[in-house]
Amino acid sequence: MSIVALTGGVGGAKLALGLQRVLAPDALVLVVNTGDDFVHLGLHVSPDIDTVVYTLTGLVNVETGWGRADETWTFMQALAGLGGETWFRLGDGDLAMHVERTRRLAAGESLSAVTAHLARRLGLGVKILPMSDDPVRTRIVTADGELDFQNYFVERRCVPVVTALGYAGADTARPAPGVLEALRAPGLEAVVICPSNPWLSIDPILAVPALRVALHDCAAPVIAVSPLVGGQAVKGPTAKIMAELGMPVYAAAVARHYEGLLDGFVLDERDAGDAAQIGVPVCIADTLMRDLADRERLARTTLEFAGTLAGGRGAP
Ligand code: GDP
Repeated sequence: MSIVALTGGVGGAKLALGLQRVLAPDALVLVVNTGDDFVHLGLHVSPDIDTVVYTLTGLVNVETGWGRADETWTFMQALAGLGGETWFRLGDGDLAMHVERTRRLAAGESLSAVTAHLARRLGLGVKILPMSDDPVRTRIVTADGELDFQNYFVERRCVPVVTALGYAGADTARPAPGVLEALRAPGLEAVVICPSNPWLSIDPILAVPALRVALHDCAAPVIAVSPLVGGQAVKGPTAKIMAELGMPVYAAAVARHYEGLLDGFVLDERDAGDAAQIGVPVCIADTLMRDLADRERLARTTLEFAGTLAGGRGAP
């Protein structure tokens, strides 16, 4: 039995933690967005991988949902004193992750090998795979011009109006080792698309051609968990981007966005009125994950729902 989950950072990591807690360690494979990766201060930063690793190891700062708890900021303060770039904040402990990742990549290791090493060193049992070892970079076309992901997300705080999105490098990117194997595994029971931002966190994963095909062809049901609660994003620009792209801001539009890939959709109970607009079987649940119990409950609900859909896939 195994489950593959596709995830971005904070929102997706919440459900990934729930899945980790209700599944055996060898039963879960996480495929993580690397479209947000960038080189900053000479260091390779993988924000979503780090958020997932910190969340699943309990190292995360629970207030922000990203970065480490009990972090110190001596490096940032010293850098500010030198007139350096401080718009992207790197805590002292977090810095070690980026330095070690960068050193290993420069020595010729792949991102997936480095990620596996760092996760193992931090005591993680589940498999964390970058979507690709090849660089894919999310580009945001805005009314103020085209921006790199982090310039849009962190430096400009998602203020510029988004008109289009691109995933540079995706066309030729190959899934990282282990991704296709996980999607084709005979014991695969479900693929869960976590409640991450569809445009910023999940689409870069789906933009890797062979990965998308494998998802389309996989024998297990593919379930998405809505990233909207009560027609709004819990955090971040999901709803803002939907509106800016001219889409109605409701959960059915997210389901429609994944059309052709989905076998089921977990809809928040506050959005139950949208159910008729969703073209695949729907499970209505409380998807707001406030605490650990919520994360576990939603993970169980999602897996049980997937169980009801198993066998329906690939039927003529
Ligand atoms: P990022 O990579 O850090 O921006 O985070 P993600 O893309 O993984 O997550 C952002 C999405 O997670 C937003 O659409 C939020 O609405 C959604 N989200 C965050 N917390 C929750 C939650 O508790 N329940 C649900 N259903 N969605 C959530």
